[in-house]
Amino acid sequence: MTAPHHNPGHPIQLQLGQESITAFSISGLATYALVPGLNCAFDMGECLLDAVPLERVFLTHAHGDHSRCLLRHESLRRLLGMGPATYYIPRQTLEGFRGLALAWKALENVREANFEMPRFAPLAAGESVWLNRQLAARAFAVSHTLPSLGYTLFDVRKKLKPEFQARTGPELAQLRRQGVPFEEEQWLPRLTFIGDSTIDTLYRERHIGQSRILFLELTYLMEEERELARKRGHTHLDDLLAFLQECPDVLQNEHIVLKHFSMRYERRLILSVLKARLPKTLLDRVHILI
Ligand SMILES: [Zn+2]
Ligand SMILES: [Zn+2]
Repeated sequence: MTAPHHNPGHPIQLQLGQESITAFSISGLATYALVPGLNCAFDMGECLLDAVPLERVFLTHAHGDHSRCLLRHESLRRLLGMGPATYYIPRQTLEGFRGLALAWKALENVREANFEMPRFAPLAAGESVWLNRQLAARAFAVSHTLPSLGYTLFDVRKKLKPEFQARTGPELAQLRRQGVPFEEEQWLPRLTFIGDSTIDTLYRERHIGQSRILFLELTYLMEEERELARKRGHTHLDDLLAFLQECPDVLQNEHIVLKHFSMRYERRLILSVLKARLPKTLLDRVHILI
């Protein structure tokens, strides 16, 4: 008999402003978030058919509940005649994932001529990649028990430098011909995804709070689980409440998605604990991914 946990595996549909996202996250079971409007996904603990057309997958870390279906995604794309997707992974995991791909090749008896290594793109904290001319992703360090990255997607806009704002169209055209750089880039944080993390990441990476949407892990809620949370590199509700008290102005996000709750909780328990303990200013913006 299975435990009466809060969601046996159904994907959840979120509409967060302009963003339609399909997501699922339970600690130890699976985590993923699909953003079809931006042609990308975060983590691949499970691989829905809806995930297969997405061409970029940002993987936070190598724990199985976040990464187990990366190769399934890759092989389903091949089966369906789609070109290779790109898998952004923490740099330290590259050899492991390559080894995994080679192990499958051997197990499935794939001939050398038919084998293609999945397109892994290792990233380090601070590195950025362009998804298109107006959208970029930047990786940042996340504190967990394994090498782990968080990702922020930015809308990148060109705007006039202050000293050129009063210029007319023809004047700007003239400047362009002369090669004068009168524009600067503005990076507007649109969506931030953190996989598993202790609260340390929030204290260190303050830019997270400026993101319009934030996916945040909150695995443990019960008083007696504080030590467990520390040991497993997760966030406990008490950690989040302490952070909100010490740094009340950091999380400016319009939408905060709390996810990755422990499998042992029932739905009702999660809702009642969070409603009783989270401050109202946060609750108004919170989506509980259950
Ligand atoms: Zn996890
Ligand atoms: Zn983990």
